[in-house]
Amino acid sequence: MYFNDNTLVFLDGHFVKPEQASCSVYAQSLHYGYAAFEGLRSYSTTAGIRIFKAKEHYERLHYSCQAVGLPLAYTVEELTALTYELLELNRLSDAYIRPLVYAGEPNMGIKAPATSNLFIAAWEWGKYLGDQCLRLMISPYERPNPKAVPIEAKISGHYANSIVASSDAKMKGYDEALLLDMHGFVAEGPGSNFFFEKNGELYTAPAGSILQGITRATVIELAREAGVRVHEQFFRPEELLEAEGAFLTGTAAEVVGVSSIGEHVFRKPYADTIGAQLAQQYTALVTGKAAPHLLST
Ligand code: PMP
Repeated sequence: MYFNDNTLVFLDGHFVKPEQASCSVYAQSLHYGYAAFEGLRSYSTTAGIRIFKAKEHYERLHYSCQAVGLPLAYTVEELTALTYELLELNRLSDAYIRPLVYAGEPNMGIKAPATSNLFIAAWEWGKYLGDQCLRLMISPYERPNPKAVPIEAKISGHYANSIVASSDAKMKGYDEALLLDMHGFVAEGPGSNFFFEKNGELYTAPAGSILQGITRATVIELAREAGVRVHEQFFRPEELLEAEGAFLTGTAAEVVGVSSIGEHVFRKPYADTIGAQLAQQYTALVTGKAAPHLLST
């Protein structure tokens, strides 16, 4: 699924076969989740193959590395150029792209390393959470405390929390988890940001205890351009009882509707919500069919 006989991946300056891209089982990153990553998508657009917001993603990768003291020896421009080269070598157009900066040297210490490794892979991947509206549940697991870890950085170790919450929700018969922050406010999904709609306006958690999604920022821009008010503010799960609709956003998931949270089923059909309209606009934007001024790269 992620690779075939012809796949090439990038590892530390070379394009190699996936089986040649190996890593020590004594690697610091493997033991401590001490690595930073990104998730980008490329699309076939009216102007050729384009990576959506490559600059923003690679700037966030730099921020993530910096936040945990992980060296990153490549500039945003170099990372972007390497990624386009990787797509071309693999003849990929609509792809998901996964760069990973990790500490691959055998090292059982818990001190930041002097060097790091860079791995980038790309593959065709459908919408991560599918196309159907999702049934969410409020997770008993909170997002990590921002005073314990830099939660706005995309650090591999944070995803142990995501996997635990998502698996728990699926085990209980739901499609995905919705996590609260340490103060009991709704934060985000395990791999996506959350919005709800009330009286024609949108609400989403503010910066501070979430990963500030690039899709989230794009959707906020699209909504505001269309004259929809977007509130970035704290809210409690009880407030969702008054919501008319909701959706999740993320590079892998794109924009996907939510039909219910716990026992509460939204009355408005998803097709009639602002989320459904934004999902269409998002697709038009990433494929270059609309609003090109919102594209930075
Ligand atoms: N929150 C979390 C925890 C995520 O893993 C992701 C996916 N990167 C998002 C939000 C959405 O971020 P983006 O829109 O930049 O992909």
